[in-house]
Amino acid sequence: MYDVAIIGAGVIGTGIARELMRYQLKVVILEKENDVADGTTKANSAIVHAGYDAPFGSNKGRFNVEGNAMYGQVCKELDVHFKQIGSLVLAFDEEDRPTLQELLENGKRLGVPGLEIIEPDRIREIEPNVSQKVVAALWAPTAGIVGPWELAISYAENAMDNGAELRLNTEVTGITKKENKFHLMTSTGEVEARLVVNAAGIHADDIYNMVAQSEFTINPRRGEYFLLDNEVSDLVNTVVFQCPTKMGKGVLVSPTVDGNIIVGPNAEDVQTKDEINTTADGLDFIRQKAKLTIEELPFHMNITNFSGLRAEPSTGDFIIEESKQVAGFINVAGIKSPGLSSAPAIAVYVAETICAGILGSHAKRNPAFNPKTRKKLRFKDLSDEKKADLIRVEPSFARIICRCETITEGEIVDAIHRNAGARTINGVKRRCRPGAGRCQGGFCGPRVVEILARELKISPMEVELEGKDSHILVGETKGGADE
Ligand SMILES: Cc1cc2nc3c(=O)[nH]c(=O)nc-3n(C[C@H](O)[C@H](O)[C@H](O)COP(=O)(O)OP(=O)(O)OC[C@H]3O[C@@H](n4cnc5c(N)ncnc54)[C@H](O)[C@@H]3O)c2cc1C
Repeated sequence: MYDVAIIGAGVIGTGIARELMRYQLKVVILEKENDVADGTTKANSAIVHAGYDAPFGSNKGRFNVEGNAMYGQVCKELDVHFKQIGSLVLAFDEEDRPTLQELLENGKRLGVPGLEIIEPDRIREIEPNVSQKVVAALWAPTAGIVGPWELAISYAENAMDNGAELRLNTEVTGITKKENKFHLMTSTGEVEARLVVNAAGIHADDIYNMVAQSEFTINPRRGEYFLLDNEVSDLVNTVVFQCPTKMGKGVLVSPTVDGNIIVGPNAEDVQTKDEINTTADGLDFIRQKAKLTIEELPFHMNITNFSGLRAEPSTGDFIIEESKQVAGFINVAGIKSPGLSSAPAIAVYVAETICAGILGSHAKRNPAFNPKTRKKLRFKDLSDEKKADLIRVEPSFARIICRCETITEGEIVDAIHRNAGARTINGVKRRCRPGAGRCQGGFCGPRVVEILARELKISPMEVELEGKDSHILVGETKGGADE
């Protein structure tokens, strides 16, 4: 029997798993998809918000500010890209100024450091390309950008390095509680656990309804994006927002940690929890809105579009608590934005205060816990000398697979064989970036298929792009590889 079963391997579930491994506990993460970070964690703005906009006294406000302050340390330990580049909220006319003032005062109450309202001269020193219409801005120096799936993958890896189990392709289909023990029915068999952490993202209400009377609903709210080529990476230096609306933080323009520019999102309530398509109307809306921030945004440099689903809770705030109906069942639900920013703080709170609190003396500290992951080898960032040394030891680092991003075979092999390693083509892309550049895998895709098949000892026909049964090869032509 497990001490804790976590449902969902997004940034929330994996973060909690990692923090639980600071105790001598048996922990399993159950994930219905074939990779970690395959839900909302893979499709968001990737911003570590400073934390000035959630209401004082809310979970969102508290965990955002605490999470932001933890980011530097966590990303250092887990070798995850994080850059504290600051953010601006732009006001385009004097009527927006009171909104900036409200955000400033709310942020100060919440304890956000360094907030200031700045005027056009200073704004243009920070962001020379923003619209001439800008009259003022809220400057938040602690905001940052991060690799969101990178963080979740590294959380999962570190949790596994410290003894946690990850079960992919394992969908939870039913839950009962008998004699202080949860029985989780899954697509790969029954799992027993003392505690259950429900970190199932947009499905957290469906999961809770398996074991208790309905208390909240999670509604999917879609956000779509443009991702621009890294050739225009110097367009903005910071995260640039517009004044917020009732539907959220509005359209932003920001660098990504990988040197692209992200533009989006819109906010649209959708009917089902799998509507992650992009739409002509949605993208057009973003295009028009974003031009307010930068008049000449180079949309012709767009390399891809994508969308993600916010887990909009009926309560309006993050739900982070042990169920009052079912002892030992912990909901971490409705984790919409700023959920990514809050993840490190939510993880510690759920593991230490809730889980260890319930388990009491059963949760003994783990003196062997290692907070650090093994460093990832990023070939293109090495000096020529180090590159040569590496190639002498491991010749596969001399074979460039992805030309756009300069990614070697050695890095791909490592990404497959680490704990929580890649199992799909997009899983490889999220871990070390082949296919994330301008050609979007047009050149390197077939080579990645070959490497995955060889390393996982499966047929190329079994290699999936992303998600269950997303095979991209359907049969052999000309007799296959033998001819
Ligand atoms: C458009 C958009 C923009 C955003 N921008 C930001 C931002 O800039 N900054 C920020 O801080 N936050 C942002 N967020 C919010 C942030 O992305 C989320 O808060 C965070 O990713 C939530 O992580 P999660 O682990 O709760 O959910 P998920 O990543 O969705 O993980 C839940 C997991 O549970 C699994 N699961 C579901 N049902 C089952 C089942 N029955 N059995 C097993 N597994 C199951 C799913 O497959 C999934 O992998 C944004 C969100 C969106 C949509």
